[in-house]
Amino acid sequence: MRFWGYLAAKLAVGGGVAWSIGWAINRWYPTPAPFMRNIRQDPFAHDLAYTLVMLGYFLLCLGLFYLILRDQRLRCRTCLRRLRMPVATGSWTHVLLGPPTIEYICPYGHGTLKVPELQIGGPEAPDWQAHEDIWKELFSETKR
Ligand SMILES: [Zn+2]
Repeated sequence: MRFWGYLAAKLAVGGGVAWSIGWAINRWYPTPAPFMRNIRQDPFAHDLAYTLVMLGYFLLCLGLFYLILRDQRLRCRTCLRRLRMPVATGSWTHVLLGPPTIEYICPYGHGTLKVPELQIGGPEAPDWQAHEDIWKELFSETKR
């Protein structure tokens, strides 16, 4: 739940940043002269400079959304820290024995994320495997 809440918070902040940039563009862009008396057209698709600015704004929003999702994908599902220590496993030459994957691990041992490198049958979702608490086993040995 904390993982999805963090994603929702980042999307809300990113949406706020994108909205404020869009507001600033519409506020500061000079208003074009009316085409005819009392007919004011929307400058989008009628003014080349404004349309290009809106294209840049769209690409900026898309890039911001991509960065948010990419950052969220490589975070621990428990503590939300960035996953570390990528290890390449499997082989590109022996795909049937073990397809190539990259494994990331939480620095505090909460879990492992396996991201498949080879996606033959369409996009495959990364596999998160939660670990048990590593300190629980250690303390259970000392109490005996
Ligand atoms: Zn963690």
